[in-house]
Amino acid sequence: MLVSMVQMLRDAREQGYCVPALGCGNEHQARACIAAAEQASSPLILLVIYEVVPSFETIGRGVLRVAEEASVPVSVILDHGKTFEQVMHAIRLGFPDVMLDCSALPYEENASRMREVVRVAHAVGVGVEAEFGHVGMGLGTGETADHSVYTDPDKAVRFVSETGVDALAVSIGTAHGAYEGTPELQFGLLAELREKVPVPLVLHGGSGSGEENLRNACRMGVAKLNIAHDLYCGALRALEDADFTGNGAYDLYNVVFHGIEAAAAHAIDICGSAGKV
Ligand SMILES: [Zn+2]
Repeated sequence: MLVSMVQMLRDAREQGYCVPALGCGNEHQARACIAAAEQASSPLILLVIYEVVPSFETIGRGVLRVAEEASVPVSVILDHGKTFEQVMHAIRLGFPDVMLDCSALPYEENASRMREVVRVAHAVGVGVEAEFGHVGMGLGTGETADHSVYTDPDKAVRFVSETGVDALAVSIGTAHGAYEGTPELQFGLLAELREKVPVPLVLHGGSGSGEENLRNACRMGVAKLNIAHDLYCGALRALEDADFTGNGAYDLYNVVFHGIEAAAAHAIDICGSAGKV
């Protein structure tokens, strides 16, 4: 069933586990992630990025439909929305949650854009995630972990109260996509954020961040963990291992499905969300 992440994340925060938020390039990938979540009785969030999919309209509708058919609660969120217009498009399609990422902008501009989005989204029951501090966009984007700006806890508290956002993505040392090496996460900072910030915390850049790091982060109060790159890698590994001789090529989509499903199951395990439905 399709639900908003807002209550899902409040439950996770209260009960000390994390909801996996898995990158989704099309309906097939969504189905694979949902299969893993159904198998584990885990709540799930699917991430759709506007510019990454060939048609946000078509893929967005498809992913929403697949989420509706799931036997576990699934949210679909516009991930890293860049503009007010993208957010409106997602809301019109029926997305239960949206993220607007203005984290590279100065405080006042980030806050005022978030206030505008929160006002319209909340008017129609849609949840809103913001990012405060900045998580680097990762290898190949010209932006590495060095471009990350750690989240200041006191400013984050002010930001949440001034904007009314439902969830806050924080920066504690991860970056998006692939890494060179394993990052050092700032667990002291995470503990302080968990203590002070009154809404569920989100960690982006979960892929390649080190399994122990992520398990700790989930135990310490991250309520939503974004993972995308690792799912694609799961598909690639499965393709490398597959035998496509003879009529094996017909198995292409099944192989990709099971590769993503296995990576999604691993993410669910890290989050500790199995059996939480
Ligand atoms: Zn992200």
